[in-house]
Amino acid sequence: MKQLLLASGNAGKLKELTLALADFDYSLQPQPKDSAYHVAETGTTFVENAIIKARHAAGLSGLPTLADDSGLIVPSLNGEPGVYSARYAGDDANDKDNNAKLLKALHNSQQRQAYFYCCLVLMQQADDPAPVIAEGRWYGEICLQPSGDGGFGYDPLFYLPDLKCTAAQLPADEKSRLSHRGQAVQNLKQLLAHNKQS
Ligand code: IMP
Repeated sequence: MKQLLLASGNAGKLKELTLALADFDYSLQPQPKDSAYHVAETGTTFVENAIIKARHAAGLSGLPTLADDSGLIVPSLNGEPGVYSARYAGDDANDKDNNAKLLKALHNSQQRQAYFYCCLVLMQQADDPAPVIAEGRWYGEICLQPSGDGGFGYDPLFYLPDLKCTAAQLPADEKSRLSHRGQAVQNLKQLLAHNKQS
């Protein structure tokens, strides 16, 4: 079984991806708790940031590495919060601050369509010229006030018209199946299944 490092300190992501990749010949390893693994996410796109994280962790560990990057995109706000989703209201902002800033930015706007985006990048080594890149998009709209207490981040504001609820009102397993991350994982699995080197 090949070791595969996950370039993230997030235990939830490790659990979700371990389950998702169970059919593959990979043993997913958590990133060491070492500040050397922290890297500035200086890209202007999610894919650039995921590559920066995967390349950095693969270089340090010498292991094939999987990294992800995700966030919320509101087209009527020129793509904001985008790659700044985690720190939309400032470097020390929490989810509540970010949600409040988003509601303010959309004040009185009728154009509330939005989508979550997730990019997963798998690099065999730091100078891998052909990383496997998978993406997922989850479409909804930003409602007028937060509802629900599940999930995290912008979930309480992310309304799903077909389901008539916000992402924060969905059971966790249903969110995992439908979400941008869930879709990116499914796409990654398909790419790996067709990719002999992996
Ligand atoms: P990360 O790169 O996956 O840690 O996500 C960056 C930021 O995007 C998070 O801090 C959230 O603000 C937002 N985000 C990403 N995925 C989700 C989601 O599934 N629900 C709500 N917010 C999300």
